Amino acid sequence: MKKNKSSILIIYTGGTIGMKEDPADNTLKPFDFSQILKEVPELSKFACRIDSYSFSPVIDSSDIEPSMWVKLVEIIREKYCFYDGFVILHGTDTMSYSASAISFMIDNLTKPVVFTGSQLPIGVPRTDGKENLISAVEIASAKDDSGRAMVPEVCVYFDCLLMRANRTSKMSSDNFNAFGSPNFPPLAEAGITIRYNTSLIRRPADPDAGPVFKTALDTRVSILKIHPGITPEVVGDILCGPGTRAVIIETYGSGNAPSAKWFLDMVIRAHSMGKVLLNVTQCPSGTVNMNIYATGKSLQKAGVVNGCDSTTESALAKLFVLLGEYSSGTEEDRSCIERELSIDLKGEITC
Ligand code: ASP
Repeated sequence: MKKNKSSILIIYTGGTIGMKEDPADNTLKPFDFSQILKEVPELSKFACRIDSYSFSPVIDSSDIEPSMWVKLVEIIREKYCFYDGFVILHGTDTMSYSASAISFMIDNLTKPVVFTGSQLPIGVPRTDGKENLISAVEIASAKDDSGRAMVPEVCVYFDCLLMRANRTSKMSSDNFNAFGSPNFPPLAEAGITIRYNTSLIRRPADPDAGPVFKTALDTRVSILKIHPGITPEVVGDILCGPGTRAVIIETYGSGNAPSAKWFLDMVIRAHSMGKVLLNVTQCPSGTVNMNIYATGKSLQKAGVVNGCDSTTESALAKLFVLLGEYSSGTEEDRSCIERELSIDLKGEITC
């Protein structure tokens, strides 16, 4: 049976991949997206239709805002039935935040959404952008024997690795292997061929039902990174500040925090104010286990939720979506958020 030609939509948001040097002041400036397609003629060799959509203006990803995640989801929603897959070109600085967010904003995804970018602009001879873009398109258009998408997930493709989006972090500001997924193996590796780890790839709960898009986000979340010498004033401002509904506590090792009474008292106070408190580790790999040490145990008793092996990027994105979904601020809503935080929703945690 002859398979239909795949069609891919490339959405260009900005970032180094689409920049070139301005000889006037030697800085990198974005150029028109049509230039990217001109720079990568290899794309026309694919047996698939490739269309593109560019943000206007394009943005350096350090300017990304959750409203742009909503915009991305709206574009995917609008174009969903016209394409087999989506490739999102994005600056590397906040790619893991954006890709994590999109993974929580679409339920029952049946098509690939592959984020990629580059460390060197695509017009530079040694660029990593071409390989990243070409392989991302190949992955986004790949089908299995039954004609379904090979990777119906939100992913990040970078330097020969396809990773689950909500497991990634930017690891290097200057190496080509800029992204890592320390707590979860790659979904695919690109060598002479692209080798898919099919047993790890998530499938939609109902492949014949359409996706569900969620665009209500509540960003009233702060992050408290514990460090030696942290003062009660700083902890109090971040944990108990009036502007937040949730705080991610980035703890040491397997979920430990100072054992000082003032610290625990503040955690208890924040919890009694109705805040959701989530414990993630500062370690790039490994998991929180609040049952090992006394300090972890007392955090658990104070109502802090175990973030398991979540990245901070993923925890933040998950909280934005859950707070948006359970928006009333009631005790009942807080319990729902706390319950969903400890469940693996999109492959983001191992529990
Ligand atoms: N500052 C750029 C950005 O994140 C860096 C990059 O694209 O790699 O948009």
